[in-house]
Amino acid sequence: MTDYSAYTVGVLALQGAVTEHMRQIEQLGATALAVKTVEQLALLDGLILPGGESTAIGRLMRHYGFIEAIRDFARQRKPLFGTCAGMILLAKAIEGGEAAHLQLMDIRVQRNAFGRQTDSFQTDLKVKGLAQPFPAVFIRAPYIRHITSSAVEKLAEFNGNTVLAKQDNLLACAFHPELTDDLSIMRLFLTMIEQARPHR
Ligand code: GLN
Repeated sequence: MTDYSAYTVGVLALQGAVTEHMRQIEQLGATALAVKTVEQLALLDGLILPGGESTAIGRLMRHYGFIEAIRDFARQRKPLFGTCAGMILLAKAIEGGEAAHLQLMDIRVQRNAFGRQTDSFQTDLKVKGLAQPFPAVFIRAPYIRHITSSAVEKLAEFNGNTVLAKQDNLLACAFHPELTDDLSIMRLFLTMIEQARPHR
């Protein structure tokens, strides 16, 4: 197993599913940090934007100065991983005219894309680069409606819509990998971190 003990991965802890991500980070041997202030970003090799409510998290991010600070973090080529609401926060555009948040990733997302009937569900997804299907849990999930640059690589689709994608140091996922026992998507993110800052 790869040794990730040299890395510290933050989880933005303003609102949402924070502890489950921290548990997976630790299971893979890295250090997990709940991030509540912009100063903590300097300690991190990578940052996760968790699921929750994107409007609420976005408002708190603006209030605490995280919008500019995280944009700066991304400019330093440090990896960011947005899950569910976190994916919405990363997007350059949101369907329906709502103002976008970090505006980092060349995707246009649709919030609550699966409708009321299918509020939440689990399905086995084929993910590019993974040997086994991934048990994906969707909770009032968004999906990627449009990919707006060729720099975005599609890693998984559900019913023809992109639900996992990567663009350079950015990873975005419509579902909740932290709610399963399968660590392979978190491992994918740690591989991105390792590539950004090779182990010394
Ligand atoms: N529906 C939420 C939003 O639009 C996202 C849900 C989630 O993160 N599980 O922000």
